[in-house]
Amino acid sequence: MAAQGVTPRSEDYARWYTDVVKMADLAENAPVRGCMIIKPYGYELWENIKNALDSRFKATGHRNAYFPLLIPMGFIEKEAEHVEGFAPELAVVTHGGGKELEEPLVVRPTSETVIGHAFSDWIQSYRDLPLLINQWCNIVRWEKRPRLFLRTTEFLWQEGHTAHATKEEAIEETLRMLDVYADMAINECAIPVIKGLKSQQEKFAGAVDSYSIEGMMGNSWALQSGTSHFLGENFAKAFGIQYLDEENELQYAWTTSWGVSTRMVGGVIMAHGDDQGLRLPPRIAPIQVVITPIWKTAEDEELVFRNAKQVENLLREVGVRVHLDSREGLSPGFKFNDWEMRGVPVRLEIGPRDVESQSVMAARRDVPGKDGKQAIPVDGLATQIPALLDDIQQSMLDAATAFRDARLHEAATYDELKEQVADGWSLIWHCGTPECEDRIKEETKASSRCFPLELNEEWNPAGQKCVVCGKPAFGKAWFARAY
Ligand SMILES: [Zn+2]
Repeated sequence: MAAQGVTPRSEDYARWYTDVVKMADLAENAPVRGCMIIKPYGYELWENIKNALDSRFKATGHRNAYFPLLIPMGFIEKEAEHVEGFAPELAVVTHGGGKELEEPLVVRPTSETVIGHAFSDWIQSYRDLPLLINQWCNIVRWEKRPRLFLRTTEFLWQEGHTAHATKEEAIEETLRMLDVYADMAINECAIPVIKGLKSQQEKFAGAVDSYSIEGMMGNSWALQSGTSHFLGENFAKAFGIQYLDEENELQYAWTTSWGVSTRMVGGVIMAHGDDQGLRLPPRIAPIQVVITPIWKTAEDEELVFRNAKQVENLLREVGVRVHLDSREGLSPGFKFNDWEMRGVPVRLEIGPRDVESQSVMAARRDVPGKDGKQAIPVDGLATQIPALLDDIQQSMLDAATAFRDARLHEAATYDELKEQVADGWSLIWHCGTPECEDRIKEETKASSRCFPLELNEEWNPAGQKCVVCGKPAFGKAWFARAY
């Protein structure tokens, strides 16, 4: 049975998603269609994802900086593919200070152009390379069919921008950051993503090659959860990012860019949530452990709270993000459901009998009913709770991996692909041409997700043909319904 007020996933997955976002208190629609108000609990979840990424960026030598929200229209037009790709999504400022502007300004849809402009000034010599910069900011891309977190006109993200002396170094950086994203998704968000190369049609506007991490959601659809782009010399040529090499020759730099956004929050909701609401992996959960005191008499209340407070302090001291639910006038049952909805990984129940036996009852969010419950002695909490959180993190990744693997199929014919994408992903030899992708999308609603790197070490050594159109295959590609 689904939690009260939540549409069961099997009935309407899209409504389930909206219900959970609302009832778990993550976000709500803003007055401007397509924009969202991220509430504290949703923002704390994003902050934990953000911190997990930021520490990885710094560990790989990147530094944070900030570039302006407003970009001259002329900048966007400098790279031909870039402007063509982004034109339909641009928000344009035409007036400022009560006057019409001489040149319209674009609200950043991404910052390759303005950062390219800055880089052309910052980079003069080979000694200035590599230049490794990241920016945390908001982005605006006009969205016609918005969904909270998944597709919003304004969203939060980070965008990494780097410049290198050689093509090889830039490609190495592109793949390094793809690995960083995969590591974050798998080990923090417990989403077993697949790394791959995007098709030419699906790549970033202005890139030579784009790579992505693709995660499977609870309805078997794919979510592109992060992208890393090798930009070649495209933006260096458009913005004059040049350096003097060791022989004093003027060279163009090679650049990359890469991004992960608040979309990842939507991915966490859909990869792990169930009919009772959210289920959060402990590493990114804003609250890892919630304590719910249970009492009947005033005498018990004092005793139970004194103990609950001690447990709270004890767990806080060992670095657990713990919350004591001291709300009055709500039944324990109501509180249990409420924290279940918010996906808190562990609930500790403390009643008079637990105080007497110097133990607490721990309930796991990821294992329903009696199987997920165990009594833990108070003097064992400092070690057993962190171990329990680790176990939940691993169990959630294992469950998501098993769910995904049961829905990954390989198709030898187009008919097989059609069947497989109804409830899973289909791997085929594919030509990678836009015409063939468009046909598959029109006939099956499945889109090209990526050419997975793990399964394409040699791309197409035996000269396989595309399963759909018969042209020479580029490699093996995943097709799936996607957000
Ligand atoms: Zn084809």
